Amino acid sequence: MGSVWFVGAGPGDPDLITVKGRRLVEQAGAILYAGSLVDAAATRFAPPGCRLQDSKAMTLEQIVAWLAAAAGECETVVRLQTGDPGLYGALTEMTRPLDAAGIPWQVVPGVTSAMAAAAAAGESLTLPEVTQTVILTRTAGRTPVPEGESLASLAAHRCTLCIYLSATLLPEVQEALGAAGWPPDAPILVVQKASWPGAEQIVRGRLDDIDRRCRDLGIASQAMIIASPTLGARHWPELTASKLYDPGFGHRFRRAAGPAPADDCPQMNANERK
Ligand code: SAH
Repeated sequence: MGSVWFVGAGPGDPDLITVKGRRLVEQAGAILYAGSLVDAAATRFAPPGCRLQDSKAMTLEQIVAWLAAAAGECETVVRLQTGDPGLYGALTEMTRPLDAAGIPWQVVPGVTSAMAAAAAAGESLTLPEVTQTVILTRTAGRTPVPEGESLASLAAHRCTLCIYLSATLLPEVQEALGAAGWPPDAPILVVQKASWPGAEQIVRGRLDDIDRRCRDLGIASQAMIIASPTLGARHWPELTASKLYDPGFGHRFRRAAGPAPADDCPQMNANERK
């Protein structure tokens, strides 16, 4: 029996799939891909003779049945998903029935669209003394969000918000951020089809005009909304620099020029600090 690999295809540019993900696609006997966003990666890298199927019109049950049947015939079965499979990707709904059927599976992460949108616009989602937190979320649409996760309550943190699945719900986003005290001129970024060669659209606006700007451009899907106090920082007259590159801040790879501040190195993990 074969294995099912849930592979993150990245946000659209086929070159943004990971090396591991691409290798699996190249050796797959069967690939079930999630609609138009990832077909380029699937069709570009799949080997000759590989079974390719778009899952656009399939129910979750049909998807699981397809993957299970393919695993009975091929050693490597790939379920190719947009961005990262662990974000709004129905991953657990698919892996539970595979577990129940005794079919082995693994996940290969992908570049999620929030990161592709930030990269497209040249924005950093964290800045020293501005915000050190990023929330990945969505507005409640046909899928409700659990209690305690309303956009207004998350926006009260005044950190970076990457809002998925909400391009048609910009008025709700405006209302929620306004209710949380974000000013009407707060910068908002919308990127449609981030990383798609020739199709990417970057829209910069303010909280009070971003909906109109997006409607004028006909943006109603495949768009990432980023609200962040860091947006536009490249044009600020002054910036508090990261301590990591401060000559007075020593760490494992560099001795401090003067007395080191007591604060920790903000961008190193526990292992690196040892
Ligand atoms: N697993 C995916 C998200 C799937 S939900 C990921 O990690 O990115 C689909 C939503 O993702 C869309 O509504 C949109 O908000 C966002 N999205 C996916 N691809 C995108 C892209 N190339 N550019 C902008 N937003 C994108």
